[in-house]
Amino acid sequence: MSSCTVPGCPLPLESAHRRMCPRCAYRLRAYLRELVGQMPLLEASLQLDRSPTTGSIHGGRAHSPMPLRGDVLTLLGPGSNTTLNDPYGNARSDQTGPPTLDQILRGWAEVTAEHIRLAPTPWRRPGQTWAAWLGAYLPWILTAPWAGDFHQELGELVGRVRAITRTEPRTRKLDAPCPSCEAFGLVEEDWQEYIECPACGRLLTSDEYTAHAHRVMPTLWRTALLLAAHNAQENQAS
Ligand SMILES: [Zn+2]
Ligand SMILES: [Zn+2]
Repeated sequence: MSSCTVPGCPLPLESAHRRMCPRCAYRLRAYLRELVGQMPLLEASLQLDRSPTTGSIHGGRAHSPMPLRGDVLTLLGPGSNTTLNDPYGNARSDQTGPPTLDQILRGWAEVTAEHIRLAPTPWRRPGQTWAAWLGAYLPWILTAPWAGDFHQELGELVGRVRAITRTEPRTRKLDAPCPSCEAFGLVEEDWQEYIECPACGRLLTSDEYTAHAHRVMPTLWRTALLLAAHNAQENQAS
């Protein structure tokens, strides 16, 4: 069986049509969902460095230009917030700068449309983001020969956005061992639909985990209690 095309992922493919293993597919869906959720935070970060303590003691100089973050502007592009003047607008109108988030996602939407032989250009509903559009076409994206590249680029983009908005997802280690490999350390992470075993890649919904934990934890607690009692007895005897 051939393996997942996401760089660095050794897991096997679920079917001959897919180019990505289930674990990478879920992560890809989570990336797209996260990008939709991150957009307002990213826009809010555009003027993050405007702090009242810079400039005079009265809270900033009255005539200084509004400081905009270059790294955010690179991702959002000119005109992303029409209430602000874009100091780089003229330099960027020739489209020679690095592509914006919207342009990158639109580019992937175009190759997706080509892959599934949609109309020549992808169309999105008013107000719909490209991330949401791509999320809707995910089942087809998983069958594309470039699916692994898409996963990689999206992972890098999400990393850049998180670094700006300072929203690394929180992870939580769960108590019950993995139902497949019995390793401890199942992880629950923000934006992710599934609880994941880092050891074997098993994915569990939160309901599946709860049912599993109810089954195995009482035995584990009992064993732990017996061990503790046994150790206490031995300590007393010695
Ligand atoms: Zn994979
Ligand atoms: Zn496992």
